[in-house]
Amino acid sequence: MKTDEKLSIKIIRKIVFISIILICMLTIGVKASKSDVNYVTIVFPEGYETTVMTTSVKVSDILSENHMIILPDETVYPDLNSNIDLAKTITISKITAEKEIISEEVESVTTEEILGKYVTVTEKIIVEQVEIPYETIIKDVSKEGTETKDKVLQEGVNGLKEIKYKVKYQDDEEIERNVISEVVIKEPVDKIVQISTKLTSRGAGARTTTYSPEALQASVEGVEPKVIKMNTSAYCSCAKCTGKTNGITSSGAAAKEWHTIAAGAAYPIGTVIYIPALADKPNGGWFVVEDRGGAISNNKIDIYMNSHQSAIIFGRKTLECYVYQ
Ligand SMILES: [Zn+2]
Repeated sequence: MKTDEKLSIKIIRKIVFISIILICMLTIGVKASKSDVNYVTIVFPEGYETTVMTTSVKVSDILSENHMIILPDETVYPDLNSNIDLAKTITISKITAEKEIISEEVESVTTEEILGKYVTVTEKIIVEQVEIPYETIIKDVSKEGTETKDKVLQEGVNGLKEIKYKVKYQDDEEIERNVISEVVIKEPVDKIVQISTKLTSRGAGARTTTYSPEALQASVEGVEPKVIKMNTSAYCSCAKCTGKTNGITSSGAAAKEWHTIAAGAAYPIGTVIYIPALADKPNGGWFVVEDRGGAISNNKIDIYMNSHQSAIIFGRKTLECYVYQ
């Protein structure tokens, strides 16, 4: 029995000893393998991510192990030749257009800076006095019927303002002008015109109203006219002259004799034109651009007449025109 007991104790001791060694070995083994394996998160440009298990630490190795290729328009952080950092994350992102624009801007600034070294740019403060044109207010009393004549109720007076500019010169040539301040020295006084003889167009589809020659003249007072010699002819509403017969002009107003003229696109609808040679006509020579025409060029105007006969009699003349624009 004694020897048997001794033997069994020995065996138990051996087992315990081996077990301790085995446990130690296993623990060391696990610890060793744990320190070698990394769980790395890879973030893709599209926004999703994946986690891979790897024993590598170099970014390029981890990516190639997982068959991931970086495209020419993509960038990686940390870069391919670096090792992964503590965050254990590899981020793949697209090189955006915004980044490219930013780099262009930086370049242009540099170019300007370089140019700036070779040209002399000087800056001056300039003060200028500028007239403020008065406005013409038309007071329409035609509906009241108490007044029979158009009259100027108040004369217009131009105002005055002082503008302070910062002007940049490059070799004595002005290249930039910025307003620093604007001070009104004198407020303009509105011109007030009372209109009692407003004529309302009658034609079908007509939408605008026409003013008397006095009103036209009053509306452009103070405006500097452009004096141009124009090739002047006349037209009527017949099919031969216009290709249409309703007498409605391009502006929508009904054409009116000694009032409506057709002009080229350089003269906006509503432009007032005074022709001194026709001052003895019912309109005193005052016309309004209310029409357009296919054959109308910018140095040619057509005067509206009520009959084709009158248009032919008027013929074709070169007349001095005062264009108020
Ligand atoms: Zn005609």
